[in-house]
Amino acid sequence: MYQGITCIIRDHDLRLVLVAALICGLGSFSTVTLITRAQALPARAAISWLIAAAAVFGCSIWTLHFIAMLAFMRQMPIAYDVRTTVASIAIAVGGVLIAFLVWRLIALRLVGVVLGGAILGLAIAGMHYTGVSAMRLPGHLAFSHEGVALSIACGLALAMLALGRARHAGTLLRQIEVSFWLGLSVFTLHFIGMAALRVVPGPALPTGGNVLGSGILALAVAAVSAVLLAISLAATLVERHLAERTMQEFTRMRVLNDLAHEVMMILRHGIVLEVNSAGARLFGMPVQEIVGMPIERLFAKNSVPVLLRDQMDDVEENWPEEMAITTATGKQVAVEFSSRRIEFQGAGATAIALRDLSERKRNEARIEHLAHHDRLTDLPGRFLLRERLGRAMQAAVQDSTSVAVLHLNLDRFKPINDVVGHAAGDAVLIEVGQRLKQALRATDTLARIGGDEFAIVLTHAEMPGRVSTFANRLLGTLDRPILFDGAHISIGASIGVAMYPGDGDDAEALLRAAAAAVDQAKDAALGSVRFFEASTNDATLERRQLQQELRDASQRGELELVYQPVVNCHTGDVPSFEALLRWRHPQSGLISPGAFIPLAEESGAISQIGHWTIDAACAAAASWPVPRGVAVNVSPIQFRTSDVPAIVAAALARTGLDPARLEIEITEGVFIDDAARAVTILSSLRSMGIRLALDDFGTGYSALSYLRLFRFDKIKIDQSFVPDLGHREEATTIVKAIIALGHNLGLTVTVEGVETEDQLAIIRTQGADLVQGYLLGRPAAMDRFSEDAIAGMQAALFTPPKGA
Ligand code: C2E
Ligand code: CA
Ligand code: CA
Repeated sequence: MYQGITCIIRDHDLRLVLVAALICGLGSFSTVTLITRAQALPARAAISWLIAAAAVFGCSIWTLHFIAMLAFMRQMPIAYDVRTTVASIAIAVGGVLIAFLVWRLIALRLVGVVLGGAILGLAIAGMHYTGVSAMRLPGHLAFSHEGVALSIACGLALAMLALGRARHAGTLLRQIEVSFWLGLSVFTLHFIGMAALRVVPGPALPTGGNVLGSGILALAVAAVSAVLLAISLAATLVERHLAERTMQEFTRMRVLNDLAHEVMMILRHGIVLEVNSAGARLFGMPVQEIVGMPIERLFAKNSVPVLLRDQMDDVEENWPEEMAITTATGKQVAVEFSSRRIEFQGAGATAIALRDLSERKRNEARIEHLAHHDRLTDLPGRFLLRERLGRAMQAAVQDSTSVAVLHLNLDRFKPINDVVGHAAGDAVLIEVGQRLKQALRATDTLARIGGDEFAIVLTHAEMPGRVSTFANRLLGTLDRPILFDGAHISIGASIGVAMYPGDGDDAEALLRAAAAAVDQAKDAALGSVRFFEASTNDATLERRQLQQELRDASQRGELELVYQPVVNCHTGDVPSFEALLRWRHPQSGLISPGAFIPLAEESGAISQIGHWTIDAACAAAASWPVPRGVAVNVSPIQFRTSDVPAIVAAALARTGLDPARLEIEITEGVFIDDAARAVTILSSLRSMGIRLALDDFGTGYSALSYLRLFRFDKIKIDQSFVPDLGHREEATTIVKAIIALGHNLGLTVTVEGVETEDQLAIIRTQGADLVQGYLLGRPAAMDRFSEDAIAGMQAALFTPPKGA
């Protein structure tokens, strides 16, 4: 090195050396610009840039060499052999090209750097010593071997260093640094090489033919320098243009990216180059902070190996897969990851798209939750209850403790639902769920297992006394009325308790026992708590069994209709019969509707049963020898849940019954939930020519307003007033008032449940139109009402028509 420096100062024209250094520096910088771009491009695209780089750098070396030669020993007449001089430039460009190709294309980076650097060093050395050997001067050249070796070693080492540092030449500073090392490798090799050279004077060489004089060489050098400058300038312009385009591409990409909900990122060599604002939101950091980060830092630990795999250059595109990212706060978020190789800023890069899966995860959890929870109260349903009860039982076995299962059934819930409406029913259920929940420990399970049924699993329930106290406290929480729509709704409940171990071996059996116990509780007294007792279980089991059997009672032909005559108060004529339903149970015999209609309404079997009734009543009436009317009762639940007009129309069509002979009896319950809809249905029945009666009139509060909603043909005064007639003034007054009201509205008025002649007499004087009751005829099979039998009844109760 020292030799090189003294050589420069002592033997050279320093101004020319400076020019040489400048040209070499400029060339080196252009070279670095070019190879940096080549490095980022896919291999095939990189080659043309490497050729340009080799041309620039080869020429730079050559120019430095020959300008330095001109600066060297200016006094001495030196000529240059043309062929060798041309060969030297070829060696420079060719060698450099090979070096750059090796450096860029060998996948193992270290090997590429060492091998490429070595070839580059050798190319510089080859150019230098070929150039030296082109000199023709008086005397000959003597070399110091150590000096030559040193020059080559320095050139090689600096070339390797330059190529090593060029691997990550993203910033301008780094590019300048690499240019420096590159230029220095040429510079040191040249001047240490020159210092190792000594001219031994001798006879002047013959001049002529194939040699260049210094003047011509100077011209040649100037020409090559000009070419070099031109290439450099062109390369810089192209690079600038590309960079500008990239910038636009960049902006466009960011604008598009920022519009996207998905997170987009661009990486190169595992470093984030770009990220959109969705990414900033996901990671919880500003864009500037994410840019420049190694990608691993943004992902959860176990996602990193997969990520690195995808960073390998041969992966063109990968299928979306699930991974986790880490946000600024350290939270892990599930994402769907997909990546693809793209060209970005004129170079290869990896584009990554991330989709935040937390929403989907939440939805999945929500669906899972919905599947296992009651939608109204958000309490666990039967499935979870069974699972938790099973677990509690296992734990109880292990710890020798007990589990209590409470089955809570609301009292008076059905009327709330039917009369006040479903919205009120829902509000009650929600409130009850909340109150119960508040009364429980976190370890207890509360589930909704049916319309108005809740189940509670209590662990560590060793003492039945405690369980009983607790159950009563639960009932206490329901004492307070529930406020709905400005009204106070009172609700109560009954609780049945089953204990484990003792009342069942599995969850299902325990739940059944608790259900049986609550039925017992209800039978005993509403609002009570009852522990399961195996012996009294039968009645309740039977009740549940009945409900099962009721489902297909109509198909099994177990339903029958009986008929009760409807009698004209004044003449004793029988204009119609009311059809009343009976269930002939194979074991239990005849069951009256009061016992099974509520069960059918509860289980939904009422639709099927009601359908059967309408069909059967129409068919029967159509076959009667005397064409009297037939009245059919329709439950509010059936009215609401099935298409009654369609069913009626079909029955009329099939049986050929005159619609005017059919009367439908409904109670005010049909108006409760949706009065407008009820009126529509009633109107369509009316338009078919059917008569409509409002049954059980006088029991409800709003019966009068319902009369205004729809113009019925008939009202039937509830039988509960009848026993008091003649005993209590009030009852007589009410009945009288209702009759007057009905007549005012142009309605026919029927009084039901007339059992005595006194009652009949009073009703007659009050002006009722029709009567029904045991006095006039008990509900019975139709064959009991022959014309003779009817005439007998008339003869007994009514003054025979004059002249008969
Ligand atoms: P409802 O429509 O008010 O029917 C009159 C009830 O009073 C009948 O009871 C009848 O047997 C009974 N009854 C008639 N005369 C007297 C009497 O003088 N004294 C007393 N104490 N009772 C009398 P039943 O047949 O047990 O029906 C009870 C209720 O079941 C009916 O009350 C009606 O609401 C319902 N029901 C009956 N058949 C059907 C039906 O086919 N469909 C629907 N949805 N409900 C029905
Ligand atoms: Ca009736
Ligand atoms: Ca009635």
